[in-house]
Amino acid sequence: MPEKSLTFYTLSTCGFCDITKKMLDDLEVEYKAVVVDLLPADKKDKAIADITRFNPRCTFPTIIYGDKVVIGMKLQEIKDMLGLRTDVDELFDMLRKVQEPKGYYFNRDREKTFQLLKALLTNKDRYGYMSCPCRLAVGEREKDKDIICPCVYREPDVQEFGSCYCNLYVSQEWNDGSIERYLVPERRSADNYA
Ligand code: SF4
Repeated sequence: MPEKSLTFYTLSTCGFCDITKKMLDDLEVEYKAVVVDLLPADKKDKAIADITRFNPRCTFPTIIYGDKVVIGMKLQEIKDMLGLRTDVDELFDMLRKVQEPKGYYFNRDREKTFQLLKALLTNKDRYGYMSCPCRLAVGEREKDKDIICPCVYREPDVQEFGSCYCNLYVSQEWNDGSIERYLVPERRSADNYA
């Protein structure tokens, strides 16, 4: 655990705060939670003053660590702020090295990319292979082989739409916004679920 303490300003009614709390708990980091809407008036004023020094709009959640701040539900930013690396970071580095030279880039939205990579690792634990996080797996490698990431649909999807079905792998043009973004339709036949 780092020496500086992490303060998590939250509201008892905020769904984003609840998700962020789960992220912090999953990372097993220690933090002090300040539930601002439940504080007595004098303590509430102090908490608001502490938050607005870093976040003038006083939005929630606000996470302060020393002189750094993360505003909103941003797991990757929190990890970066704390200098933490997980198995998802290892997977990200390993896959990027292999896939970028082939013209497949990770979605530049790091929160989304890491969420999908985490889901791939969940499926690996569950099935023994990294089944697509956006599709229903049967749990038998032979039947799921077309949706083991990178799936067989990635190539035509990135060629046609600039992105795979899940928006994990994309083209450079998709990432830099120089092509229009579409909802990628499912290419996989419904027969796979029969
Ligand atoms: S759609 Fe994207 S994330 Fe899903 S398996 Fe294909 S390449 Fe992987």
